Order: sequence, then structure tokens, then C-alpha cells
Amino acid sequence: MENCLFCKIANGSVPSNKVYEDDTFLVFHDIQPAAPTHVLIIPKKHIATMNDVGPEDYAMIGELHRVAQEAAKKLGVAETGYRLINNCGPDSGQAVYHIHYHLIGGAKLGALVQ
Ligand code: ADP
Repeated sequence: MENCLFCKIANGSVPSNKVYEDDTFLVFHDIQPAAPTHVLIIPKKHIATMNDVGPEDYAMIGELHRVAQEAAKKLGVAETGYRLINNCGPDSGQAVYHIHYHLIGGAKLGALVQ
């Protein structure tokens, strides 16, 4: 997608601070961290929102959980705990319409809904 920020990050035309990359996924540090550990996990495939995940994507989205596990270990929060959050649509505050999961930890986290 031409004008998608996370597609540009995925193809390297916009720089990011990478934690992990393979042919299918990229994990990179959030530019405005909400906690000591805050990375974004994206599939390189452009999927706008959770609502747009189709049956052909289910295996890949499952695999994303392995990537999240490995990132949590690498970042040192696997044992202390973390959140994996997907914002979908306007009420959630989704700002970038390329599906992504926030992996947030490194501190005692507050209430989920405020
Ligand atoms: P929200 O901004 O409400 O968290 P999203 O769930 O769509 O909405 O999250 C987009 C995330 O992308 C934000 O946490 C934001 O800080 C992050 N972000 C925006 N631009 C960049 C960038 N160039 N590099 C890394 N992270 C970015």
C-alpha cells in the first residue's frame, strides 16, 4: 500500500529500530513508548484492521503469537509480564491502519480501560 506508514517501515523505506525481522513479520520499537518496553509487531502484508483478517490470514496471525513470545523473551519481559494489544477502529484509538500489536511491559501496568 503506497501511503501506508507501516508498509513503508516493513519495506525499509521508512527507518525503524528493529527488534526482529523475517520474511513475514517485523518487530520494532514504538516511537512514542507508553512503557519502558513498547514494541509493535506487524505482519508485512498490508491488512488494515482486525476486521480485515481473512481465513487465508488465520495461520499467519497465529504465527504472530510465536513472534510475540520470542520478542517478549528477547526484551526481558516474558517472566515479569506484558500486554499484547490490538486496537481496531475508531473507538479503540487506532491511528495507523495497518494491523499491529503493541507489546507493552517493563513496569506495573495500569487499568486497561480508562
Ligand atoms: P495509538 O496511537 O492510539 O496507539 P495505534 O494502535 O494505531 O494507535 O498505534 C500506532 C502506534 O504507532 C503508536 O503507538 C505510535 O506511537 C506508533 N508509531 C507511529 N509512527 C511510528 C514510527 N514511525 N515508528 C514507530 N512507531 C510509530
